[in-house]
Amino acid sequence: MRTPLNLVETPPGGAWSVLIEETGHTVRQAHISMFLSDGMRHASDNNLPWAGSGARDYLLDLWCQQHPFARCADKDKPERTFGIEDLKRFASSMGAWVSKVAKGESAWVEQGEAERRAAICVQCPNNQDVACGWCSGSPLPVIANHLAGRHTSVDDKLKSCSVCLCHLKAKVHMPLDTLDASGLDLPSFCWLSPTP
Ligand code: SF4
Repeated sequence: MRTPLNLVETPPGGAWSVLIEETGHTVRQAHISMFLSDGMRHASDNNLPWAGSGARDYLLDLWCQQHPFARCADKDKPERTFGIEDLKRFASSMGAWVSKVAKGESAWVEQGEAERRAAICVQCPNNQDVACGWCSGSPLPVIANHLAGRHTSVDDKLKSCSVCLCHLKAKVHMPLDTLDASGLDLPSFCWLSPTP
């Protein structure tokens, strides 16, 4: 069950809106409270199976499903924290990257590829303000120094990935074979996903 991260601002397009598949009706309101009350009333009037006390959560989850690029979070999932598996992936990725550089191979992808990745990330709901202890410690300045002069046109919108906890401003420039994505639950449209 997912829920939008931002219930205060009206989404792009000027309204909260979902299609109720059972009735073919679209619930559409500029304000979240009106959207929810219209949706709950519609469910009740039409005896929909999700009418009642769970209707609010159902409508918010439905909205997230129908707006895949919106920022939503799993209601029941604990907040993502940096764990041992993240540390292993980070060490593996840094090791592969350093080894590549030491062999004289290109440390960065072409600018066009970095732009392609960045454009996907800025649309992704996992592009979030999440902190990673290791990335904000010593390795980041090293990467940042090497990144000097490397940017994308959407750097101001790139944050961190809430799936891998990586700093996206650095990550989008790194060669794919240096990025350890093992065990990550990446969305299918992610440029790092094995089945994009
Ligand atoms: S790396 Fe993938 S999952 Fe993470 S923000 Fe970018 S597109 Fe989304």
